[in-house]
Amino acid sequence: MVAASGKIAVVTGASSGIGAATAVALHRAGFQVVLGARRVERLQAVGEPIGARCLPLDVTDPESVRTFCAQVPEVHVLVNNAGGALGLDPIAQASDADWQRMYDTNVLGLMRMTRELLPKLEASGAGHIVNVGSVAGREPYVGGAGYNAAKFAVRAITQVLRLELVGKPIRVTEIVPGMVATEFSLVRFKGDQERADRVYAGMQPLVADDVADCIVWAVTRPPHVNIDEIVVKPLAQASVTVVARNL
Ligand code: NAP
Repeated sequence: MVAASGKIAVVTGASSGIGAATAVALHRAGFQVVLGARRVERLQAVGEPIGARCLPLDVTDPESVRTFCAQVPEVHVLVNNAGGALGLDPIAQASDADWQRMYDTNVLGLMRMTRELLPKLEASGAGHIVNVGSVAGREPYVGGAGYNAAKFAVRAITQVLRLELVGKPIRVTEIVPGMVATEFSLVRFKGDQERADRVYAGMQPLVADDVADCIVWAVTRPPHVNIDEIVVKPLAQASVTVVARNL
């Protein structure tokens, strides 16, 4: 593991789930962390115990992204984690509003943060962009089209970034989780807790810390080592739709 002391990591969507766990894990690994999300109180509950800077951030709002990034003078690691799914409707019933929000958050938000922080990542001499994709970005499933398309886009953007940045001191990694027990399904099903619980019924999903471990491992390799991608799924999940359940 390469020492991270003094290095600065920005984590988007750090008020909950994978982002919150990643913030704590990066802090433990020696990073100074700067956290962004819309729910600032939740963000502070995560960030204050670890001495993190907590700044409001809505990645769908270009002005919010600019203001956030202007307050970050130096950055070594950018974790583009803010995102999620909305709905599980077949294309025949697709909601424009849900699709637009999924694109704006998972795709355009990631692009805005990356574009804004690229000069500072390069100036650090050892920059690293970690994009949180999903197995939904590898494998389409019924009802998943809007989220599938957004996470397939994350995969494409990650690969293009690696092509465009070759020769510069910026590593690019995609973290590709399967099922993780966070607020993801509650958000997807718009507060329907029963429906969200059914997603993980009778099986052991990953927890946010499992994904945070992968992120910390990737960013603490020696600077000449680029981990292109890490696909991490629960043991009980063979594919997006093939899951062993004890029901
Ligand atoms: P989560 O608990 O719902 O966390 C999502 C985070 O994203 C929250 O902190 C939320 O904060 C933030 N966020 C949402 N919209 C935002 C916006 N416009 N601007 C800034 N922050 C925003 O879900 P999670 O599972 O940790 O999701 C994290 C990432 O992992 C997402 O990209 C998701 O697609 C991906 N992922 C999740 C799973 C899974 O099974 N859980 C699997 C594969 C990939 P605020 O609401 O406070 O803004």
